[in-house]
Amino acid sequence: MSETQTATGPKKQHLIDPEVCIRCNTCEETCPVDAITHDDNNYVVDAEKCNFCLDCISPCPTGSIDNWRVVNAAYSIDDQFGWQELPAQEEIASAEDGGEAVDDEAAKLIAEAHSGSGGKSIAPASASKPTINLYNRGRPVTATVTGNFRLTEAEADNDVRHVILDFGDASFPILEGQSIGIIPPGSDENGKPHVIRLYSVASPRDGEKPKTNNLALTVKREPQGLCSNYVCDLKKGDTVQVTGPFGATFLMPDDPSANIIMICTGTGSAPFRGFTERRRRTMRDAPGRMMIYFGARRPEELPYFGPLQKVPDGLLRKHFAYSRVPGEPKTYVQDRMRATAEEMLVFLKNARTHIYICGLKGMEAGVDEALADICRSAGMDWASLRGDMRAQGRYHVETY
Ligand code: NAP
Repeated sequence: MSETQTATGPKKQHLIDPEVCIRCNTCEETCPVDAITHDDNNYVVDAEKCNFCLDCISPCPTGSIDNWRVVNAAYSIDDQFGWQELPAQEEIASAEDGGEAVDDEAAKLIAEAHSGSGGKSIAPASASKPTINLYNRGRPVTATVTGNFRLTEAEADNDVRHVILDFGDASFPILEGQSIGIIPPGSDENGKPHVIRLYSVASPRDGEKPKTNNLALTVKREPQGLCSNYVCDLKKGDTVQVTGPFGATFLMPDDPSANIIMICTGTGSAPFRGFTERRRRTMRDAPGRMMIYFGARRPEELPYFGPLQKVPDGLLRKHFAYSRVPGEPKTYVQDRMRATAEEMLVFLKNARTHIYICGLKGMEAGVDEALADICRSAGMDWASLRGDMRAQGRYHVETY
């Protein structure tokens, strides 16, 4: 701990795990009080500015932001810049060993700290327990590419790929909704290794094919994208350095009676392919319904368009929204939701309904407004319902 710190008694400190953080800057952009900053090495939280609003917790794609310690004196940002890993929880003095009589308060803080973010976004009650952060930059796992297929039509603007990674004998337990990190080879102009990129897993927990130790990703080639071009160009037999798994809240409920509404754009459909395959393989006769609102420019641009047509309506009710079909009005997912408000309302009134939103950051506000309008039309209050659903682990957003 630095000498500049003042001893103020035990207090909770918000920290970022440097081994898991992928330096994506989302937390720094999100923090409303500018408490998060970074240097070439680490993203850190300034204890003097952090007001525990927790706004940064949900947007963090890896969960590295959700770390807490109870400290007698706060770690400074300079301390944190130098870290390669988080320090262990220090011993907090109790009255018995001659310290201040703070043990009850400290115990409460430690318990709160270990319970994570305070419940802003939690996993569904029935979700399986995820394994997270098994591999990191210092200790990645090697996967072998066993497939790389183009998902969009040849004439489509977008090259979206279905990439299959096999883990051989290595353990890589994954749940539907989790993500993995890919380490692009090489280094940047300053000689530093490239930042890890995150991709949602598009296959269910038992593999791309049942009982295989592999997983699938849905990756769109970005014209200037360092990692997306690397992944989209991978050939069968190539090896890839992988970190993760990541994500402990955007998880599929295991309860067959859960209704699952999935709202996505483009490659944001990746986790929902995993959800759908999970139900199809293990809960074919589930009483809970699944419904997807899926937005793309045109049918040719919609990942998994062909296979999706073959999924029976009884398993997955599908609503497509196309924004750039010549001669047709521009339609976004939120427009389709409004157009099917009656159907949405049946689900929104049901306490077994879970909502998942994944895709473009820009869709978030539009989808939220649509849900508010749909609720208003039936005399319901979306803000209060959303709060309840979030607290019950039934409302999940993952947008970039
Ligand atoms: P895209 O092709 O750029 O867009 C898909 C559709 O969304 C288009 O029809 C687009 O319409 C529409 N759209 C644009 N703005 C919208 C808005 N404000 N509200 C509703 N719809 C809107 O999609 P993409 O490039 O595949 O991007 C998907 C996003 O998902 C990316 O940001 C990606 O990072 C994120 N994501 C990916 C994964 C993954 O595993 N790959 C996982 C989670 C999230 P127009 O362009 O015609 O306006």
